[in-house]
Amino acid sequence: MSTARPFSERYWDEVETWSRDRIAEHQLAKLRQQLTYVYGASGFYRRQWDDLGFTPGDLRSLEDLRHLPLVAKADYVATLEESPPWGSALAAPLRDVRRVHFSSGTTSSPTPVCWTESDLDRWADVYARAAYSQGTRDTDVFQCLFTYSWFVGGLGFTSGYGRVGTTVVPGGAAETERQIETIFRYGTTAVAGTPSFMVHIADTADALGRPLRESAVRSVTVGGEPGGAVPATRARIEELWGAKCFDGYGSLEFQPIAWECEEQAGGHLPEDFAYAEVLDADSRQPVPDGSPGVLVLTHLDKKATPLVRWWTGDVVVRDASPCACGRARRGGLARGMRESALPALGVDLGRDRKDRRRRERVRRAWASVSGAPGPRRSSGHPRRHLRGLRHAHGSGRPRCRLQPPRCCVPLP
Ligand SMILES: [Zn+2]
Repeated sequence: MSTARPFSERYWDEVETWSRDRIAEHQLAKLRQQLTYVYGASGFYRRQWDDLGFTPGDLRSLEDLRHLPLVAKADYVATLEESPPWGSALAAPLRDVRRVHFSSGTTSSPTPVCWTESDLDRWADVYARAAYSQGTRDTDVFQCLFTYSWFVGGLGFTSGYGRVGTTVVPGGAAETERQIETIFRYGTTAVAGTPSFMVHIADTADALGRPLRESAVRSVTVGGEPGGAVPATRARIEELWGAKCFDGYGSLEFQPIAWECEEQAGGHLPEDFAYAEVLDADSRQPVPDGSPGVLVLTHLDKKATPLVRWWTGDVVVRDASPCACGRARRGGLARGMRESALPALGVDLGRDRKDRRRRERVRRAWASVSGAPGPRRSSGHPRRHLRGLRHAHGSGRPRCRLQPPRCCVPLP
């Protein structure tokens, strides 16, 4: 773990100061390189593109990427069954793979996602960019309250905050009373963990007569669950901790996706790392900025398990307005409902009984974390949810998970 120098007092990386034109130019150059790499290294993608008659040299504009097929979680899982245990999507020889994290296995068997040395370095740097944008500096004491076992978040945050130069306390997500004692004894100033653990640890501290609002913690970054995007949950965390709460957004397969800066005005996407499309759930055509759609992501330089046109299943609103922090904002994202139980795009699982059960589990999980009712059983299809997003606030129906202005309209 190395400590790097920031670009300036305000920005970790120079790329955060680039104009829209420069970002687009950079993305096209990186996409050309990345598709050439992926085509040569991954049997999974090469077969798909050969079937279409597509070669990486055919990519002349960012829009040309739309010719390539979308890839969903079930498609990725199918590559594991085809070529166990690592899958045909693996694009680096095993001797170059330095890390593997696994999905929880709640919706399918645990899925491996891999990183090479350069992937790990890049990952740490992008996480560092997030921490720095939230005001974290090398004088901070950072206590990581994500679990380290199997889960991707613990080591991701640890490497990123280490890159910034903070003093890292790898606490993990257990031994609550010891975590509280450590926070007070060693003057922890920044923490990260799941929203539910952040609430639990604060409630426990209150019960012990040591409220965390009296600690030195001033930055609470949450992720791994959608609660950070739910205003009531965020307000509760900020009140319990007496600190700012920042929402982080990522998935095992795509790490990280977006994070909030000090302005807390919606997520910033690292556009030199991820190329984002926001698509209509039915037509799979791009929606205008400010309209809800499903987020589709392409890695611009990941080597071990690169994703090209990854259907996240997350409904987002892309924000083109400037952020007060000065960073380019077309990548600004507000999250809505996660439709993680969407069927594979190449395989229709929608009528399958097992898939319906998966949808129901997701609905219940969402309701338990967000405090809001999940989508009605009959509205599991994302298109119906999008209609709900557009009309929920006008009609007073509490169908949308986010409250204005964090939903339905561009962020402030
Ligand atoms: Zn910002």
